[in-house]
Amino acid sequence: MIRVFDLHADLGEALKKTYDGKTSALKEHWIPRMKQGGVGITAAASFFAGRESWEDMTHEVDMVRHDIELSGAKLILSKEDLAEPEEEPAFLMTVEGMCGIRDNVSLKIRWLYERGNRIGSLEWNDQNELATGNSGDPCRGLTEKGKEAVREMNRLHMIIDVSHANEKTFWDLIECSELPLIATHSNAKSLCTVERNLTNQQIRAIAQKGGLIGMNACASFISDDPAKRTARTLASHARYIADLVGIEHVACGFDYGAYYGAKEGHDLYSPEMTQNFIEGLRAEGFSEDEIKDIAYRNVLRFLNQYL
Ligand SMILES: [Zn+2]
Repeated sequence: MIRVFDLHADLGEALKKTYDGKTSALKEHWIPRMKQGGVGITAAASFFAGRESWEDMTHEVDMVRHDIELSGAKLILSKEDLAEPEEEPAFLMTVEGMCGIRDNVSLKIRWLYERGNRIGSLEWNDQNELATGNSGDPCRGLTEKGKEAVREMNRLHMIIDVSHANEKTFWDLIECSELPLIATHSNAKSLCTVERNLTNQQIRAIAQKGGLIGMNACASFISDDPAKRTARTLASHARYIADLVGIEHVACGFDYGAYYGAKEGHDLYSPEMTQNFIEGLRAEGFSEDEIKDIAYRNVLRFLNQYL
């Protein structure tokens, strides 16, 4: 089995339904399914949609950290913790959306980092004090406070995720960030026109900066044709991006609907289905070595350089 590093999982959403501070919901509900599908490392996102306060943010981040600790799984904090994905799942903490940061920007970014988060997006689809997400004003991008956040994240080597940025924010980030950017869960817009997928220009800009793009398994991000929303079609996004900018920029960021309660029903919406994507990559003609690059090596190489 080729094991995978999944760059985006809404575990904050998944855990808060069952978290009681005593038993690990990860261990009870999710780790067995990750093992079954060969998901060796998961980026566990704390998720903030736009209305949450700073206090809400700290509560959820603390919950995710505590649940990982309760589970006994390895938490990746520095490059010394990086290793090939193993049967026992390991975790990396990330933040999706930072709407709760309205003042003391650098201090709060530092708190997120110190609490263990190593990747973060300034926005979800919302428009907040730092940046503008996909549903925000198309003419509004990164704010002055957002630029401060970028400087602090660059200084700490907390990687910036552009998956939910609107186009203006995306290009502002390309200009402002000194470090490469990751789109943890976005596909190619040429193959599926959903708003959050990336244009060829965006894919090239991420690649030129040395970044990564995680393939998103969410059904509506795979194909405009509901009949083609499969693991096999998602593999064609990997092929498209590899041909456009090089395989070294392709990774996995499945954003499985199972974590946030979506009932999608295709063959790639839950961690135990992960090998369907590996099979799709084989059908797409990738060699076993190339599949390992997409599955985890590209992410490990990237994190080894920047963590
Ligand atoms: Zn997302």
